[in-house]
Amino acid sequence: MSVLVFAEGSEGQIKNSSLEAVSYAALLAEKLNGKAVATVIGSYTNEALSAIGKAGVTKVLHVADEKLAKPMAMPYASVLAEIAQRENAEVVLLPRSSLCDSIAGRLAKKLDASIATGVTELPDISSGFRVKKSIYTGKAYAWIELTSKVKILTLAKNAVAPMQKDSAISVEQLQISVPDGDMAARITQTEKATGDILLTEARIVVSGGRGLKGPENWHLVTELAKALGAATGCSKPVSDMNWRPHHEHVGQTGVKVSPDLYIAIGISGAIQHLAGVNTSKYIVVINNDADAPFFKAADYGIVGDAFQVVPKLIEAAKKLK
Ligand SMILES: Cc1cc2nc3c(=O)[nH]c(=O)nc-3n(C[C@H](O)[C@H](O)[C@H](O)COP(=O)(O)OP(=O)(O)OC[C@H]3O[C@@H](n4cnc5c(N)ncnc54)[C@H](O)[C@@H]3O)c2cc1C
Repeated sequence: MSVLVFAEGSEGQIKNSSLEAVSYAALLAEKLNGKAVATVIGSYTNEALSAIGKAGVTKVLHVADEKLAKPMAMPYASVLAEIAQRENAEVVLLPRSSLCDSIAGRLAKKLDASIATGVTELPDISSGFRVKKSIYTGKAYAWIELTSKVKILTLAKNAVAPMQKDSAISVEQLQISVPDGDMAARITQTEKATGDILLTEARIVVSGGRGLKGPENWHLVTELAKALGAATGCSKPVSDMNWRPHHEHVGQTGVKVSPDLYIAIGISGAIQHLAGVNTSKYIVVINNDADAPFFKAADYGIVGDAFQVVPKLIEAAKKLK
């Protein structure tokens, strides 16, 4: 019996959310007395793949087909289904991402499997297979019992920390042919809208709201982000007013982020904003209104004027570097 984990990458590197999934797979395999196997699809150097060994799984199946270099749900689901069958996988684990959300349902159909998305902990296997998952954009939890032989799980971000082991990996190159129908819609070209750090993968996010008064003050957000190596985000009204591009809008109707550190500057903390940030490990709120709702969700709060507080933080962050 094995636990198969799909490690998704970006620009030749394994994403941090995938390393979390790899570590979860290693822990789960140990719990089930099985072995964990990782699969990557696309072009990766052995150095990039070594991150998977550090995260706890030493067997890596690499499908380096040029046709599959760009991520696509249909052919990736076919490849993963075939590997799952070859490896006799009883659990197939994917990180949480828009690609993996699309793959997971297709995979469940192909493998006649049950599925639970956004799993937050290792399953309870004392009687059956019960997983805890986050629901209502993180405001509640549900426990799901999976009874089919094969189970598909997607892992919520920040559910486990990636392990830091020193294990060497064994990489097996695989050729898997995919049905022509899977390639009927292909990505032929991609272009970055921004050269900045990817918001969904960033370890630190600095976000600004209407409290910053206007786009001319955004240097406070970008300078702090630069000093911390962070991505930048914003509240919805900020992108609606075109102070910032729409792809930076964080929240229920925007991007959902799960960084280690989320710094909110001049954002009130409306429920729709919190829905996009409430799985962050630590939240720091800077707001001049001590009654701003965001403080209730914060791990650390600074009650103060952003125009006075943020320059001091930038200075301190630069010194730390
Ligand atoms: C269906 C629906 C979906 C929505 N989806 C989203 C979403 O995905 N994301 C989202 O963000 N919003 C969303 N909203 C909007 C949301 O309800 C809030 O209106 C919005 O988040 C408020 O943005 P804000 O905090 O930037 O602005 P405000 O509510 O105006 O808050 C500004 C804050 O800045 C503080 N401030 C002012 N001056 C300073 C200063 N000098 N220093 C420090 N602090 C200062 C104020 O005290 C205040 O708390 C949605 C709303 C609806 C109805």
